[in-house]
Amino acid sequence: MAECTTEEQWRILEFYSGIGGMRYSLMRAGIHGQVVEAFEINDRANDVYEHNFGHRPFQGNIQSLSAAELDKYAAHAWLLSPPCQPYTRQGLQKDSADARASSFIRILELIPQMQHPPIMLFVENVVGFEISDTHKRMIAIFAKTCFVTQEYILSPLQFTIPYSRPRYFCLAKRKPLCFKNPYLNFQLLHRFTPLAALKDSTMMAGCPPEEVEEECYLSCQPIRNFLEAGSLMVFEQDCHDKEVKRSGDFFEKFAVPHSLIERWGSAMDVVYPCSKRCCCFTKSYFRYVKGTGSLLATYENLKDEAGKSNEICFMKDLGLRYFTPGEVASFHSFPSDFSFPEHITIRQRYALLGNSLSIAVVAPLLEYLFTDLLDVIEAQNSAVGGHAT
Ligand code: SAH
Repeated sequence: MAECTTEEQWRILEFYSGIGGMRYSLMRAGIHGQVVEAFEINDRANDVYEHNFGHRPFQGNIQSLSAAELDKYAAHAWLLSPPCQPYTRQGLQKDSADARASSFIRILELIPQMQHPPIMLFVENVVGFEISDTHKRMIAIFAKTCFVTQEYILSPLQFTIPYSRPRYFCLAKRKPLCFKNPYLNFQLLHRFTPLAALKDSTMMAGCPPEEVEEECYLSCQPIRNFLEAGSLMVFEQDCHDKEVKRSGDFFEKFAVPHSLIERWGSAMDVVYPCSKRCCCFTKSYFRYVKGTGSLLATYENLKDEAGKSNEICFMKDLGLRYFTPGEVASFHSFPSDFSFPEHITIRQRYALLGNSLSIAVVAPLLEYLFTDLLDVIEAQNSAVGGHAT
């Protein structure tokens, strides 16, 4: 029986660990826990994880883990961010027929066979997952193994970050554990206010995501707060000598070439240092411009002029550049001491970041999942003899 008292640490497994977004979120949430193992198949992601945490994740296919192997960790919680391609539009939506979805279902199916099954689970995925066949199978396994769930679709915009990246999250607790707000059980919510006494959960569940985004816009910080220190110099110079402004490696490396603006300008999402929203950066950012993330206009004196901003001749004068990997990491709320090992190329950095998650969103969700210790103690008292906790 996996037990945890308030003095002990939670034992946590991190599946599909990538560059460690879940682990950073645990740290941000101040959870008294230990990641006893992380699992990730990608070599480069593991290089980055090891570089920052001093531990190399178990480098193998999650698909081949057995119940006995997982039992050895006696983990209380499993954090999972399985590959999202099966559910994205680009991924052709093959869903559970897609081989990439099978490792996820496979490990969930191990839960009923385990001596020390987890008592809490946290799942992250793209929007669209909630209507997938894989989701249906996940919920059926949770029902069979006595988990209660609360599901959310949330974006960093709701946490003052000027970054639109709505994602699906499922929080699951094994009975008799319960959530602080049990009246939200088995619902899909578009807002997160766990500490408020939210009695009218039907209203929350039904609130359209666009309305929620609109509401949050005002409280968001400007993009300027997320830019690299070196790049701010560019905006602060109020001179008209473009050569001076553009000089330096920094701009050279990340500038958007005029040939790309001519070809794709009308499809580009241009934002300004004063803007309060930018689009989701995908793993193809910097390789393709269409639909992969916003571009930054570096001449601050040019304000966002609605309707004009995608006129090609106008766009060429904006000093357009890509956001740097460091800036994308900031939009994902990674800590300032996060870094990449030198050998990871720029494109690989964007690709790894594109797969990762928003710590500003995940940390409060994890805090909500983990820190209600009173219910744990209660659960331990009531779990006499069985392996319910
Ligand atoms: N949360 C992570 C990213 C998750 S993206 C972060 O913060 O970076 C999904 C990850 O799952 C990718 O890194 C991919 O390499 C890994 N992956 C996909 N299928 C896998 C499998 N069968 N076994 C192990 N890792 C897998």
